Amino acid sequence: MKIIDIINANIAKDAPTLSFEVFPPKTSDSIDTVMNATSEIAKLNPAFMSVTYGAGGGTSDYTVSVAENIKNCGITPIVHLTCVSSTEDAVKNQIEKIKSAGMNNILALRGDIPEGWTFPENAPYRYASELIREIKRHGDFCIGGACYPEKHPEAKTLKEDIMHIKEKVDAGCDFLTTQMFFDNNILYNYLYKIREAGITVPVVAGIMPVTNAKQTERICKISGNFLPQRFKAITDKFGSNPESMKQAGIAYATDQIIDLLANGVNCIHVYCMNRPEVARKIKDNLSSILK
Ligand code: FAD
Repeated sequence: MKIIDIINANIAKDAPTLSFEVFPPKTSDSIDTVMNATSEIAKLNPAFMSVTYGAGGGTSDYTVSVAENIKNCGITPIVHLTCVSSTEDAVKNQIEKIKSAGMNNILALRGDIPEGWTFPENAPYRYASELIREIKRHGDFCIGGACYPEKHPEAKTLKEDIMHIKEKVDAGCDFLTTQMFFDNNILYNYLYKIREAGITVPVVAGIMPVTNAKQTERICKISGNFLPQRFKAITDKFGSNPESMKQAGIAYATDQIIDLLANGVNCIHVYCMNRPEVARKIKDNLSSILK
């Protein structure tokens, strides 16, 4: 099934769409652990599950197998694909691999530019919009793209970034998933701006339950997220106690989700970092709301 059909069917019923993101193992050593964790998360019956592809512009040998496992659990997977430092052949092979596995949902990403790496003169893909056009040449896929309520770190201005998001949508992106954010007002302002720019595709809000304080430093370094005082107070107070931090982080994410749903943002994607207990707790906290 195409993710866009799942999203649109829920929008038509004014029903929430709750989905989870998982990541593949770096090496074959931990493949069983990841498969078990994703199967446990799939048992929570999310609307769909996404599987990341490497990190920092890198690739992954296991993304498609993790997605196949999700599909075998009866949940629709969406496979991430990056292109920045791949060859044209590698990208085309990966698209065909996804197609041969009977999957038709791809989150098309440029990927981060690796440190010290520069584009060769004849680089086949410099932006996600070019990857989206490539995917469309390979068949009838539902294609998602990334968007950044606090602006992509490389973009000079939010306005310029939104203009490039519009190019991505015009290239054939069916829906957008946001980078994580910790202040819902940032998303509400962003939604207003992108709608004003003529972007009408559904936007899925990416929520990260922060379950350890170290994660926060890393996240802020990568994406420059704004941290509200209420969030900082939680990490300051509970950061040194893992169990308390986990409970507080899940409660904060639940609060964000409830506020989003109450304000008409119906599609929520939880970055649960392969942790079934985190995904389960979030789902339990929303049990009546999701009915
Ligand atoms: P693009 O949409 O290409 O944008 C990148 C930058 O280029 C932006 O600053 C944009 O404004 C600018 N730009 C776009 N088009 C043009 C143009 N025509 N001219 C000039 N400038 C332009 N990374 C991974 O490695 N693996 C993953 O699985 C992964 N999953 C992700 C999932 C989500 C939901 C999100 C939000 C991010 C994910 N990332 C992942 C990180 C992502 O790859 C990086 O943020 C990357 O730096 C940008 O990717 P993009 O697809 O948004 O790029």
